[in-house]
Amino acid sequence: MHTSVETVGASTSWDLEVDVLIIGAGACGMAAAIAAHDAGAQVAIVEKLDRPGGNSSLSTGSVPGANSRFQREAGIVDSVETMIADLQRIGADSELPALTHRMAAISAELCEWLVDHVGARMALITDYCHVGHTIPRLHAPVSRRGQDLVDDLLAAVAQRDIPLATNNPVQTLYRNAEGAVVGAGVGGSGVESSRIGARNVILASNGFAGNRELVARYCDEIAGAEYFGALGSQGEAVLWAEQLNARLANMRAYQGYAAVAYPHGSLLSWTTIEKGGVLVNASGQRFGNEDLGYSAYARHVLAQDTNVYAVFDERIKDLASKEDEFRELINYGGLKHADSAEELATFFKLPPESLAQSIAQFNEAAAGRATDAHGRSRFGMAPLTGRLWICRVTPGLFHTQGGLAVDHDGRVLDLHGAVIPGLFAGGGAAAGISGGAGAGGYASGNGLLTAIGLGYIAGRAAAV
Ligand SMILES: Cc1cc2nc3c(=O)[nH]c(=O)nc-3n(C[C@H](O)[C@H](O)[C@H](O)COP(=O)(O)OP(=O)(O)OC[C@H]3O[C@@H](n4cnc5c(N)ncnc54)[C@H](O)[C@@H]3O)c2cc1C
Repeated sequence: MHTSVETVGASTSWDLEVDVLIIGAGACGMAAAIAAHDAGAQVAIVEKLDRPGGNSSLSTGSVPGANSRFQREAGIVDSVETMIADLQRIGADSELPALTHRMAAISAELCEWLVDHVGARMALITDYCHVGHTIPRLHAPVSRRGQDLVDDLLAAVAQRDIPLATNNPVQTLYRNAEGAVVGAGVGGSGVESSRIGARNVILASNGFAGNRELVARYCDEIAGAEYFGALGSQGEAVLWAEQLNARLANMRAYQGYAAVAYPHGSLLSWTTIEKGGVLVNASGQRFGNEDLGYSAYARHVLAQDTNVYAVFDERIKDLASKEDEFRELINYGGLKHADSAEELATFFKLPPESLAQSIAQFNEAAAGRATDAHGRSRFGMAPLTGRLWICRVTPGLFHTQGGLAVDHDGRVLDLHGAVIPGLFAGGGAAAGISGGAGAGGYASGNGLLTAIGLGYIAGRAAAV
């Protein structure tokens, strides 16, 4: 992958000129394009791959909103302050705390904008809070498929006649003699090169989780896990930042996932664990506190030198079955079930007595008759009872959370904290709100909140 930053003179000629050029057609890029267009700017989006969507289309499409209209309609009391407290409880070491405040403050407006102006078919999830949140505030497509959200964003982009060019990888950023970014160059093998001039450029090219070298450099604790995101996340924004002397922040933060169904490669819904399921190793034993959540627990699964399995009961399976992907996993034979722990163990040749004992001990703790050996304090619907289900799982890296430091408008900052004129960043390209390091600071929805939230903010600011 080639990336460069070149300086051009005032008389340089462009193949195309727009007010706002957006690099990347995921949730961030499309939200930015819609916001900039609606604020009166002439906008274009260039996308590296042959189809838009990126990681956004692989996500569950969940976006948090604190004190949204939808929460109030459901009788849920929430506030920006509560959301900030939730995010800071797990992500206190963030290098950009002001960004956390900014994102929480616009989160409700964002969810309402998605429904009212973009036409996204989203609803408040009231069944669960998910990782990091103390109040149900995630808004998601009913299917829990990010692809539905991407389709709605794409429809809104098309409705506005915003040009979106796929197969157009940006390799070069152009800046003028004063250091302002003034355009970008598309190129690569088999691609007709072109130079696009822009008053403002928005980096919406996501993070670097698909770039093994950058993952090893910045997020080494999860470098051994497979990457389960989209191919486009190769870290160009980080490489440009290094050449532009832009400030990078929260670079060691990432989202992991402790339970990717093996060998299917789809998510085993964390509802299965949050609502009372457990993870066991090939010895049939639990190895940690699942309360850590799907992101932070991923490295504990990675540290097991054996296969790992999720075990839960029929009631939990029924609850998770509200999610399309979970039902599909069942249909594809990804889950096995049995009427006893001993019988369940036979599917994957686990020691039956050991599995039965692990579940019995866990059930004692869940019933309040013993302290959990691993410190778990939230047991959902456990003790596990009746028919049991099992799924082999593997840990995954979903996306990186570090990136370019931005101000409250999404403008990229340099190493001294000054704005780099003409350059904005959002989503995985920008620094996230999941703490400074590791996966423990990731609260559900942090990825899309900074993608759509910073896209929305940056799009409007870049249009001015
Ligand atoms: C399986 C999975 C589940 C997830 N679930 C959730 C969830 O429920 N909620 C949540 O908040 N987050 C979730 N995340 C994280 C979330 O998907 C990302 O944080 C978010 O999608 C990032 O959006 P983005 O627009 O920045 O990047 P993307 O959606 O990846 O879009 C970036 C686009 O830029 C393109 N691009 C890259 N480089 C270039 C270039 N040089 N030139 C042109 N185009 C380029 C890419 O091809 C891509 O299309 C999940 C991630 C995964 C993998």
